Amino acid sequence: MRLIFLGPPGAGKGTQAQFIEERFHIPQISTGDMLRASAQEQSELGIEIQSIMSSGHLVPDPLIIKLVQARITEPDCQNGYILDGFPRTVSQAQALQEASVKIDMVLAVDVADEILVKRLSGRRIHPASGRVYHIENHPPVAENTDDITGEPLIQREDDQKATVLKRLQIYRKQTQPVVDYYYQLATSSYVAEKPRFVKVDGNQSSLVIFEKIINLINNL
Ligand code: AMP
Repeated sequence: MRLIFLGPPGAGKGTQAQFIEERFHIPQISTGDMLRASAQEQSELGIEIQSIMSSGHLVPDPLIIKLVQARITEPDCQNGYILDGFPRTVSQAQALQEASVKIDMVLAVDVADEILVKRLSGRRIHPASGRVYHIENHPPVAENTDDITGEPLIQREDDQKATVLKRLQIYRKQTQPVVDYYYQLATSSYVAEKPRFVKVDGNQSSLVIFEKIINLINNL
């Protein structure tokens, strides 16, 4: 089963992808996490990626397409995967289509911008595991501390308010057209192999959304 999660930063794609990974045993491929790992390497490329990410802009298409194409051919992807944060531009989506990567379902999650700003600026991360908390909606048991390891939580540099606003602006401009692209593909009578396209209301609780997604997957 191959799934794509589309949606603005903070819509809950990562949370849902983690739930699905646990339930269906297919890996979550988060391009943001992959890039954050590359950015930590003190190579020339790592430093460049770090600087693009902290500005809220997208890294160049050829680089990310190469990363994803290599990742999805790894053995743990044999039974499927969840793409979280990719494709982010129409040309990334076209690259998948041109490489004949068959996708079963595209889930487009959306949430109003003012809620996204609140969610992202209150988000805290446990960097080693990727566990996500929120200072109001999902606080850790002890302040600023991971529940499982007791290690400190961090705020991503790009979750600071000014960068969040920039990321949302970039999302609406560059990634919203990807949502339209998959909608058109799914409704086109000219394309035989096409993913199912489903819109998901991201304003509900994460467990309610997950139940809906399980139903969709079971009916694939
Ligand atoms: P995320 O964790 O998905 O919010 O991604 C964090 C940042 O990584 C984004 O703001 C971009 O700078 C970069 N990034 C992640 N995925 C992509 C992608 N598919 N294409 C280009 N840049 C990306």
